[in-house]
Amino acid sequence: MRSLVKPEPASGLTLTDVAEVQPGAGEALIRVQKAAVCGTDLHIYEWDEWAQGIIAPPLTLGHEFVGEVVELGPGASRVHVGDRVTGEGHIVCGACRHCRAGRLHLCSNTRGLGVQRDGAFADYVVMPESNLWALHPDIPTQIAAFYDPLGNAAHCALSFDMVGEDVLITGAGPIGVMVAAICRFVGARHVVVTDVVDYRLELAAKAGASLTVNVQRETVEDAMAKLKMSNGFDRGIEVSGNADALPTMIDTMYNGGMIALLGFLPKSTTIDWNQVILKSLRLKGIYGREMYETWYKLTQMLRSGLDVTPVLTHQLPLGDYEQAFAAMREGQCGKIVLDIAD
Ligand SMILES: [Zn+2]
Ligand SMILES: [Zn+2]
Repeated sequence: MRSLVKPEPASGLTLTDVAEVQPGAGEALIRVQKAAVCGTDLHIYEWDEWAQGIIAPPLTLGHEFVGEVVELGPGASRVHVGDRVTGEGHIVCGACRHCRAGRLHLCSNTRGLGVQRDGAFADYVVMPESNLWALHPDIPTQIAAFYDPLGNAAHCALSFDMVGEDVLITGAGPIGVMVAAICRFVGARHVVVTDVVDYRLELAAKAGASLTVNVQRETVEDAMAKLKMSNGFDRGIEVSGNADALPTMIDTMYNGGMIALLGFLPKSTTIDWNQVILKSLRLKGIYGREMYETWYKLTQMLRSGLDVTPVLTHQLPLGDYEQAFAAMREGQCGKIVLDIAD
């Protein structure tokens, strides 16, 4: 079968033929229809410090996918051959304190699909059936291909009550664009999105941002003045991973504000901690999705009108993966979906 692999500990990927995979006990074999490219895949492609610390080549990449169950391993019974599924890429241990308490997203033994086990940039992928999410017929296949990062966005946006609140989102990458759409959908008042790439800010505007700010040309304070906001933001969602974004957010939050942090920040990032104290701010780290409440909420929001189509900018054949990674490197894309089979 075809597979997009990291063949050796160096930059780059190779599309090659590998042996067919087989489902083990409690697992399912999925014929992959579409898979989406993530920032994580770009880190692995580039072979940066993070990738060098976690990836053991050879490895098939890809953790955002949609496909059809074609075979079940021994004991698997929750899903059925023919089901259209996507999957939660974090495979948890089921035995630690948090897993046993139902807080699976806090498992400390999580293994990542396409990171620590072979992923979905291939004709077939194997996953534990417990990680699969059967898709309602209302959900378009090209949207289901990126349910995983849409879940990250939903986890951020649904962490706090958004009704009537003014929200600052720093970062208009795919997650920021999807966060903007969800905040708007669940009833936020102003949704302000910052970035340095105009292309991405336009996607955020299409997705429902009230105002976008290119911080190379104007400030968040300018945006607040335009919107006649006198106090500051009630909610902050940091998805840029930029060391300057979080201090700006802290500066422009209103008392009692709540901040969700998803973008990996450089160790050099510094903030004014006294503002956190004096404004009684709350900070929450977001990793992955709540299993499987986020998946449920996301499905029902999509079925009741949440529109994330502006974020899907490219659909390319698997063979054009170099083009996909180049677009990501330049920031000239939203979500890119690779077509693997019909
Ligand atoms: Zn991802
Ligand atoms: Zn666990």
